[in-house]
This record gives sequence, structure tokens and C-alpha cells, in this order.
Amino acid sequence: MTSPKFTVIAPIFNELENIPELYHRVKDVMDRTGEPWELILVDDGSTDGSTELIRKLAENNPRVRPIIFARNFGHQIAVTAGIDYSQGDAVIIIDADLQDPPEVILDLIAKWDEGYEVVFAVREEREGETWFKRTTAALFYRLIYRITDVKIPLDTGDFRLIDRKVVHVMQQMREKHRFLRGMSAWVGFRQVGVTYKRQPRYAGETKYPFKKMFKLALNAITGFSYFPLQLATYIGFITAGLSVVAIPVVAILRLITGTALLGQATTLIVVLFLGGVQLISLGIIGEYIGRIYDEAKNRPLYIVAEGPEMPANENKSL
Ligand code: UDP
Ligand code: MG
Repeated sequence: MTSPKFTVIAPIFNELENIPELYHRVKDVMDRTGEPWELILVDDGSTDGSTELIRKLAENNPRVRPIIFARNFGHQIAVTAGIDYSQGDAVIIIDADLQDPPEVILDLIAKWDEGYEVVFAVREEREGETWFKRTTAALFYRLIYRITDVKIPLDTGDFRLIDRKVVHVMQQMREKHRFLRGMSAWVGFRQVGVTYKRQPRYAGETKYPFKKMFKLALNAITGFSYFPLQLATYIGFITAGLSVVAIPVVAILRLITGTALLGQATTLIVVLFLGGVQLISLGIIGEYIGRIYDEAKNRPLYIVAEGPEMPANENKSL
């Protein structure tokens, strides 16, 4: 088979009912480009039979390249593996649950043809998602935008097209705690957004419970900002300033009225408050230290149980 011009990457964690529909819609769209393409299905430790279905699909369709992980490593790592193994001149990342309509890929490609190296899909509307998910997502994107150094476009997920040049850079970025949208924004080059309507899931339940979302948010913040670390400094200055002001106030009150501030409760509240702030600050430092530790261990990002050979010219220092 000629080497593909386009690579579509879909991470899969228990998406049995979505895989056939995903394949057909991606095939439909990609055939319309008239160029050779490949679909990398990364099985992220599925236990519902998705693995077998992916194997079968790959046997019957040479365009499908399966990468089967030894266990669940998480969505961001699964996509990373897809990027590492991709061969196309342009690489498209898409969710397997069809919330990102494959038809939008043609819009992404049109912008790529105009010369943009990163074309991200912006969610103009979200359908079929809970109020909680929509609100936390909106808040999260805005918080990240405010406190990080990289201007990560608002309301974008991982649904995007990246040019081979960006792929090469991202293959060099081996950080263990990954936030791919931030990483692809950090790279630079010419970037542009295309709006689309995010659909409800085709089948199945979300594989992103609150815990995983929270972890992703922490990775985004710690990966692109020192702000949480600086927070302790700011609070320290404020409390130190307050106490400097408090000293003469208490002294004068004592001289004039003869009574000090009422003691125990006030003291207790101040001690508890500062104790709490100090513990939180320690926890924040801990988050960063844990990440430094993971980087120092330098374990492989993922373990492939079954998969194709890596393209010969790509970065192999996993
Ligand atoms: N996914 C994955 N590993 C995980 C969790 C999710 O590969 O540990 C995949 C999942 O199969 C889907 C994509 O990541 O293709 C996005 O997940 P999901 O649709 O559950 O997230 P949501 O759209 O609800 O944020
Ligand atoms: Mg989804």
C-alpha cells in the first residue's frame, strides 16, 4: 500500500458499539478526499470485546492499523501512541464515540490545504451533555486560559488536524502527564479554528468520569503554569501585611480601652486558617514534586501488546 497522506487516530476504551459506525463514517469521508489514508485504532485496555473487533476490522481492511495496549493508560496517552505511529502528512485526532462528526475532517483538511499547520475544531454547541459537564468544561477552559502561559483556544477538545511538522515536534515532547491540546498550541506554527456542533455520543457512556476530568485539569494547569506555586507567595504577603497592620491596632486598642481582642476563638480561627493554607500549599508543591518524580523515573509512556512496527524514521526514544 502506498504510504498514506492522512492518518486518522481514534482512541478506544470500551467502545464496542461505536467502532463499526466510526469505521464506516471515517471511510466514507476519507475516500472522498481521493488520497490514501490510514485509520489508527488505539485500544486503550478495553474489556468489552472492542479489542477483538479491532483485530478483525484490521484483518479485513488494510487501512486500519491497530495498536493494542497492555492495559488502560488513558485517553491522552492513547492518542500519543497514535501520533507516534502515524505516517500521514496530516494527522487527525478524533473521538471514537462520534461526538466529533467525521464529516468535519473535510473542513479541517481544507484549512490545512490553505497552509495552516494546526487546525483545531471549536465546539460551537454541545448537544446531549449534562449541565454539569458543560459548565465545568466551560469554567475549566476559561481558568486554563487565564493562568497558563500558552494561549490554549477556548472550547476546543483534542479533535484537530496537525501537520507532519507539528507531529515531529510532539514526538519529541515525552512528558508523562500530558495535555495534548496545550502541547499542540505550545508548538506554534500557523494555527486556526473551525467551528462545529458537538454531537451526543452515538452509543455507550462517557469514559471520562469526574476523577479523570479532574486529573486532566491538573495536568493542564501544572503542565503549563506555575501559578499554583506562586499562590502561596501571594497569600503569604497578604497575611504578613495583615499582621503588620494588626500589631499597632491591637496595641492601641489595648492602651485606649484596656481590653485586648477577645482571645480564644479569634486565635483558633487564625491558627486553623493559616494551618489550612499551609497544608494546601504543601499539597500543591506535592503535585509538582510527584510530576518531577514521574519524569525522573522516565518509564515508557505506554506498553504496546500488539501493534505495527514503528515507522523507521520516527523518534523511538519512548
Ligand atoms: N478513552 C480512552 N481511554 C480512556 C478514556 C477514554 O481511550 O481511559 C477514549 C474513549 O474511548 C473515546 C475518547 O477517549 O474515544 C473520549 O472519551 P469520552 O467520549 O468518554 O469522553 P467525553 O467525550 O465524555 O469527554
Ligand atoms: Mg465523548
